[in-house]
Amino acid sequence: MYPDTSLFIDGVWGPSASGRTIPVLNPATGEPVGKVAHADKADLDRALKAAHKGFQVWKKMSAFERYKIMRKAADIVRARVDDIARIMTIEQGKPVGEAKIETMLAGDLIDWFAEEGRRTYGLTIPARADGVQQLVFKEPVGPVAAFTPWNFPINQAVRKVSCALAAGCSIILKGPEETPASCAELVKAFAEAGVPEGVINLVYGVPSEISEYLIPHPIIRKVTFTGSTAVGKHLASLAGKYMKRITMELGGHAPAIVFEDADLDTAVKILSANKFRNAGQVCVAPTRFLIQEKVYDAFVEKFTDAAKAIKVGDGLDKDTRMGPLAHARRVDAIEAFVNDAVEKGAKLKTGGKRIGNKGYFFEPTVLTDVPLEARIMNEEPFGPVAAFRPFSTFDEVVKEANRLEYGLAAYAYTRSAKTAAAIGAAIESGMVSINHHGLALPEVPFGGVKDSGYGSEGGSNALEAYLNFKFITQTGL
Ligand code: NAD
Repeated sequence: MYPDTSLFIDGVWGPSASGRTIPVLNPATGEPVGKVAHADKADLDRALKAAHKGFQVWKKMSAFERYKIMRKAADIVRARVDDIARIMTIEQGKPVGEAKIETMLAGDLIDWFAEEGRRTYGLTIPARADGVQQLVFKEPVGPVAAFTPWNFPINQAVRKVSCALAAGCSIILKGPEETPASCAELVKAFAEAGVPEGVINLVYGVPSEISEYLIPHPIIRKVTFTGSTAVGKHLASLAGKYMKRITMELGGHAPAIVFEDADLDTAVKILSANKFRNAGQVCVAPTRFLIQEKVYDAFVEKFTDAAKAIKVGDGLDKDTRMGPLAHARRVDAIEAFVNDAVEKGAKLKTGGKRIGNKGYFFEPTVLTDVPLEARIMNEEPFGPVAAFRPFSTFDEVVKEANRLEYGLAAYAYTRSAKTAAAIGAAIESGMVSINHHGLALPEVPFGGVKDSGYGSEGGSNALEAYLNFKFITQTGL
């Protein structure tokens, strides 16, 4: 029912050279459900050789041929949505409905990037002398090393794989060891659609060993990572040392600002749904709830009621609205955040505890009047906890929203067009969503500023991170 996961190198699924494996646990039970192959250096060397070979083939294939193969992969993913979503829920915990949405979005993302690959237009630049041509060509950067996490096992990987392939690059994907099988289903779809051998390679193992081997390697020309800011900074410095192009999609600590003139019911509905989606393990989840004083108590009450109404359970049960956290270390981390905040004076409105003694369940939690010194107001929570603080003026809330070094997503609710425009302009963030939740569509930019990273993984600029601009100037003899 739940498949074991092999490595995929040079078009072949197989075990690692050492035969070593890593157990995969179901977060709803804490019990092992399968295993994933553990790559060592010998496997990485094979993957590097394959990526080099695959790149020579793929970069020469026309953009139109690449597009056709990618569109086929998207169709395969969509056709298998039920099976893939079930696998994802078993290994990651999210409700199966959320897993289906993630899988279908993968199809849309592949389609978008496949189409964009056909539009990597070059440029001609007017010359200063008669008979001179000045031409700019866009060429794929080369084999990519990609590192993706467990919170969206398919979505985080598909953005990188699709960008790389659409640009004409090959890729070695280091998938998430906690949630390997759904990510492998994605790779399987590309392989079955006809992506040539060596163009996509999938490995798992010890993340630090793999990144420290692949990033410096001369075959790798580009590094892309999604995960925590701390790890991102480490990998960015390693990539810098070896002069590799990078895209970094790192953590966030999104302010959710509710002004006193907002439609409170709409704000509660949308913000609570997005706070507890994927049990809060979302880089763009609203995390710092900043509510204008006049509506603070009313908003907190309504939000707390919404949190209490969430049914927590196994993601495979159809009534479940929030599944377990993805692994045991997240439960420990969330418990520590809550205890620290309460010790420092925050009030616990609801939740705050683990649920049961099996699996990694945690209650949807609301903390109010959380002091700025609390860890949760400074570090990315990545779990089902909403931290509330009141504010009085526009300037005060902007100062708090911009206080942290994070700058990924931000949310605001107001009925005033003037306030909406002003808050959109004032917030230091890669993405700002006002009066609705409108992030992460394939055709819009996705990425952060400051410590949340750089580069976009969506929209029409995303491919540029995988392309070199080559200038050729020529004249007749
Ligand atoms: P972590 O920081 O150990 O790992 C985060 C991710 O980075 C994982 O996928 C891991 O495999 C990978 N990683 C870690 N060290 C690496 C290395 N040296 N080289 C390559 N990859 C490496 O922590 P975690 O417990 O898995 O997650 C905790 C934190 O990570 C969260 O609090 C959150 O801030 C962040 N995170 C962010 C995202 C995101 O979407 N931006 C996703 C997952 C985790």
